[in-house]
Amino acid sequence: MENQNPLQNGALEGAAGNGGRSGDGSALIFLGTGCSSAVPNAMCLIQPSDPPCQVCSQSLSIPPDRNPNYRCNTSLLIDYCSSDGIRNYIIIDVGKTFREQVLRWFTFHKIPRVDSIVLTHEHADAILGLDDIRAIQPHSPTNDIDPTAIYLTRHSMDSIATKFPYLVQKKLREGQEVRRVAQLDWKIIEEHYDKPFVASGLKFFPLPVMHGEDYLCLGYLFGEKCKVAYISDVSRFPSNTEYVISKNGAGQLDLLILDCLYKVCLSLDSFLFIMLTACILLVNCLGLL
Ligand SMILES: [Zn+2]
Ligand SMILES: [Zn+2]
Repeated sequence: MENQNPLQNGALEGAAGNGGRSGDGSALIFLGTGCSSAVPNAMCLIQPSDPPCQVCSQSLSIPPDRNPNYRCNTSLLIDYCSSDGIRNYIIIDVGKTFREQVLRWFTFHKIPRVDSIVLTHEHADAILGLDDIRAIQPHSPTNDIDPTAIYLTRHSMDSIATKFPYLVQKKLREGQEVRRVAQLDWKIIEEHYDKPFVASGLKFFPLPVMHGEDYLCLGYLFGEKCKVAYISDVSRFPSNTEYVISKNGAGQLDLLILDCLYKVCLSLDSFLFIMLTACILLVNCLGLL
């Protein structure tokens, strides 16, 4: 069942944002903290139970910015202000609800564009909004614009190439007409903490985690003044990643953002480790309650 918790469409910037951000520094904006089918659950609304589901039945009556039970696919926007004052907007994951997230939260928080995209994995709730990236790029009928950098693993690249061949294709086939599509600059990253990469000036360290026992997905460690670990879709921490986000590894985290899977199998030891890992812990356990 969906539940209320602090991860809900808000902005973290030392103090929470409120109807557009106020500060000059960097900020984290939670574009979504929902499950893959998002919240509310459509079935709860089209075939309501008796009594109706409390979460979903009230989800359409309260504005989303004040509603912990209206949640899009999990996604984070990093509004990164570097030391020289240059502002960049980096988004982690572009899921099925991306367009709705742009309409609701980019307008609310006054986000003018996306400079880089970072993907955690290639499931639908992390990538199916890629087609809509063109909606936030400058208009050019001939696709003559600077592409947006997108960082992903080789496995995700191969999967996306089959799902969105037209986003990956570099040259037109003979006789093929130009059609306007999102322009993306694909950058392959490695699934190792010791292979960091820089997206729009911000360094990211990959944090491999198990997403079920048969699938690896990436979280990321980033931040200069504040050390932040963002880990979505985790069911188990490999020991290397557990070490990296411990005090003995990369050092004390300031913020750990954790999104646990439905079939989560974190041990009590792991939970205790997590609780001791960061100064602030935001944990999202959709499906656990
Ligand atoms: Zn419901
Ligand atoms: Zn997934």
